[in-house]
This record gives sequence, structure tokens and C-alpha cells, in this order.
Amino acid sequence: MDDTFKSLVSGLLKTSVTDQSFESMTTRENQIKQLLRHRKCPKEGWDESTIELLVNRLSLMDSNNFVHNYGLGEREARFASQLVSRRHYRLGHGIGRSGDICELQPKAIGSSLLNVLTNSLVLDVIQSVGVPNTRSCFVVPMATGMSLTLCLLTLRHVRPNARFVIWSRIDQKSCFKCILTAGFIPVIIDTQMNDNKSLDTDFKTIEAKVKELGNEKIVCILSTTSCFAPRNADDLSSISKLCLQESIPHIVNNAYGIQSSKCMHLLETSSRVGRIDAFIQSTDKNFMVPVGGSIIAGFDTDFLNQISSTYAGRGASTPSLDVLMTLLHLGINGYKALLNERKENYNYLKEQMKTIANEFNVNVIDNKSNQISIAMTLNMFDNSSIDTTELGSMLFKRSISGARVVAIDDKRKTIGKYEFKNWGSHTDSYSDSYITAAAAIETHVKKDVSDVYNIYTTQAFFVQITTDALSKSLAPGDAIEFIPSILGMPDLPVWMHYKQLNSSHAAYLYGSPALNDDQDIDIEVIAINQYNYETSKDVMKFRVIQRESM
Ligand SMILES: *Cc1c(COP(=O)(O)O)cnc(C)c1O
Repeated sequence: MDDTFKSLVSGLLKTSVTDQSFESMTTRENQIKQLLRHRKCPKEGWDESTIELLVNRLSLMDSNNFVHNYGLGEREARFASQLVSRRHYRLGHGIGRSGDICELQPKAIGSSLLNVLTNSLVLDVIQSVGVPNTRSCFVVPMATGMSLTLCLLTLRHVRPNARFVIWSRIDQKSCFKCILTAGFIPVIIDTQMNDNKSLDTDFKTIEAKVKELGNEKIVCILSTTSCFAPRNADDLSSISKLCLQESIPHIVNNAYGIQSSKCMHLLETSSRVGRIDAFIQSTDKNFMVPVGGSIIAGFDTDFLNQISSTYAGRGASTPSLDVLMTLLHLGINGYKALLNERKENYNYLKEQMKTIANEFNVNVIDNKSNQISIAMTLNMFDNSSIDTTELGSMLFKRSISGARVVAIDDKRKTIGKYEFKNWGSHTDSYSDSYITAAAAIETHVKKDVSDVYNIYTTQAFFVQITTDALSKSLAPGDAIEFIPSILGMPDLPVWMHYKQLNSSHAAYLYGSPALNDDQDIDIEVIAINQYNYETSKDVMKFRVIQRESM
């Protein structure tokens, strides 16, 4: 802390104030200084006060927040609504200048610093979690598909005679549309099926296409790492080597790949043996912020500068601010802990799906280079009247979102003027219908799956209340009293009853929900140890499912 401030405080309080009283402020100041000095993601996450101290400071450095400032321009970061102003910490200038999304904005030094800091921290994270070879990256205030388009448009300047983008098929619309939006002609390379029914890059056909079209005519090869199973990540190493050999640019769609050490490893090793010009990832999928941003990264700073200067105009600073605040909150250790947890969740989810698959005599497909998404075949419905596509909505009704059912039914889909057979399966002819589930970052499969009691309408249920929280202090003879009720309400639902067996530790909730009682319900249980009056609170989650729709 500044000495004048300290002596003024001592004077005001008429006592000599110890350094400890200023310490918490000094600690925060030092954290901020360290950040500016090293420009790396801190090891441990910061508390909210320090994050806000930094953001407020950045905000005060923008001209719209100067004590005396009269903006005579048409764009001066004005706010009509205080709600909007507060939501953005009074940061209103956005990032970049009219000609380059990474350029400094003299009227907005705080926002410019925000932009540089965020990009620097993101680079540190990408390097730390698997691609140390990365040279440069920047956050773009557009989602992944549009950032892919921006990269392709940059290549238009570099390769004015090229028109074809060689694309290893992945059935997600934005992956394909980014080529059409950039005004190029896609050359669709179907994936090929392995013996274990996983799907791989058809590298031979890519090689043949490159020969057929000739280097001059090809804008780039667009490959993908993170994708829905049973598709594997593309054969990045072979494609990268081919691109190096034939002098063809290579753009990699790594949409949710930062969270997968497998995808990151593929990028790192391929960048060492071959050519990758840029790899693009989503900020929301990897860093848990609202949709609206993506990160363009690469191994050649000059090419990345070309991309950022292709962006027309300024951009919103919100995606950068959200990512910066998130990274400061988590710290690199916090982020890595989430990545480890994700791996455990992936293994758990796969085990659970295998258990179900065994029960029904179907398969969980082994995807070596896809460690996020898992596919299970649905052959148990092959000779039944059940429409497998209904499974998705059945799961959605049970509060499971994101599971995807792909039915092999020869349906066709048209995007632009291109028609795809069996859209959704990454190939014209897949053998089986299947369902996919993803263990992405912050997917709490374990907790979600095991802590919910499923009960059914018009069917009796019977659940014991557990005393986990009290068990440490509970002696066998202690009397215990439970008070169960709907969370935040005084009573139980009319169809749910409570019974305790003679003050023993065994107490039960039982009953039978009526036909229209199908909804999720949280029951709060307060437990009181009547011997020492220690209390604990626990929430039991019930999911009431309609019996007919089983
Ligand atoms: C999410 C995703 C995209 C991009 O989607 P946007 O909506 O543009 O962010 C592209 N490819 C894959 C594989 C994705 O998962």
C-alpha cells in the first residue's frame, strides 16, 4: 500500500495502524501486479473481490469512465440503462479497431489491456494443457462456425485461385456451413467404417483428391478433432504431413477439444511433423461461459495476424471478459482439476453404458481417438415396433438433454445445394442405429445418476432416509428425529408419507404418486440428534416418472 495512505489512516484513527490491517489490500495488489508481469493464468484461482478489483480498474482506464470526459464522437461507449452498464462493468468500447480485432484502441486502454491479457492467459492455458508448441491465439467474439469462416476468408487473400475446401465429413451443420458461407466449394470425403464400427478419416481418398484437383485449386484441408462418436478424431498426423508436403493450408476444427488431452496431443504431435495453420475452439464448450466466442490459435504468428486483420470492425469485449474472469476464478490448477474430473466422468459413463449394453446384448463402440463422446448401438429395437428416434425425447422428458439418437433410415438432408445420406452418422451408410452421450467438462454424471430416486406414478415406493451427515456423532442408542418436507415448504406432498420406527435410526418415506404427479421434487430432511441436539440437513431428489410412457 502507498505510504501516504497508510499515514493518513493512522492520523485519522489517532493510533499507529499495523501493516496487517493493510495486508489484504497489498495481497490483492500483488496478485494483479504478478498477472501483468507474467501474463500467465495464475496457479490458484483468485477470489471474487480481486477479480472485480482488476476489472474495475480496467474499466476506469477507458475514456468513457474518465472523471471529466466529453465524447464528441459517434461511438463513445454510452449507456442509457444502468443495468446494462453494470452488467458490463461500464466497459463499452469493445475490442480492436475498425481494421483489426487485435489492435489497440487509444480511447479504450482498459479494454485493450483486457483483450491482450485474455489472449495471453488463453495461450498459457492451451500450452499448459497439451499444445506447448502453440505460438499465438486470440479470442474472437463469434462462435466457432463463424471463426472457421473467418480463417477460410483469410486464405482467400493468400490463395486467390483456390476454390475447393477438402472436408473430412463430420455431421454438424456449422462445420459444413462455414465453407459455404465463405463462398467456397466443399469436397466431401466420407468417413470409413472400421471393424469395430468406429469411423475414421478416409485418408487415401483425401490424398487422391489432392492429386486430382492440384495444389493451386485447393484452399485448404479442413479436419476435425472433437466430434460425436462413433466418429474418431481425424487422422491429424497424416493430413498434416500431406499438407506440409503439398504446400496446402490445414485448418483444424477443435470445437470442444481443449478439454480432451487426446485432441490436444494430436494437435501438438501433428504440428511437429506436419502443417497446421490454425485450430479453432469454442469458448463456451471449453470454458463454461455463454455462447458467443471462440479462440483461433496457431503455430505461426504471421498467419494469425492476417486472420485478425481480416475481421471487419470492432468486436464485443464480453466473450474476452467472460473468459478472463473465468480463468482468474479457476486458476490453472482449478481448470486442470476439472479436466481430470472430466476424464473420470468419461470412464464412469462408459462403464455404465457398457453395463446397459451387456444387459441388452448390444455394443458400446470403442473409439480410441474420441475420449469425450460415447456411442452405444440400439439393435435391441431392430425387430420391435419402437421408433428409436423417440428415445431422445423420452430421455429429454426425464431431464436428460444432449443425448443423441441416430437412426439408420436412409433419410436425406440438404444443406445449401448439397445432399447428405444418413445425415447425423458422418457417413452415407452406417450399419446400426445408435445413441451417443458425451462426458464434457462439468458434466456431473456420477452425482446426477446416482443421487436421484426414480419413482413411478400410481406405483408404491419406499425409500429409507439416511443419516450420513449425523453418523459421525451418532451413538447406536441415540434417539434421532427427522423433519422431512418439500424443499422450502412446510409439508410433504400429499402423496408422500413419513414413518419412523420407534425413534430408531430407520425412517422411511413412502407412498404412491398420482397419475399427474410426474415431476422432479426435492425433499429436505432435517435430522436432529436428540441427545446432543446436533442437526443436519440433507436434500433427497425424487424424479417422478409417468408409468405409461415407460
Ligand atoms: C460446436 C461445434 C461447432 C461450432 O458450433 P458453433 O455454434 O458455431 O459454435 C463446430 N464443430 C463441432 C464439431 C462442434 O462441436
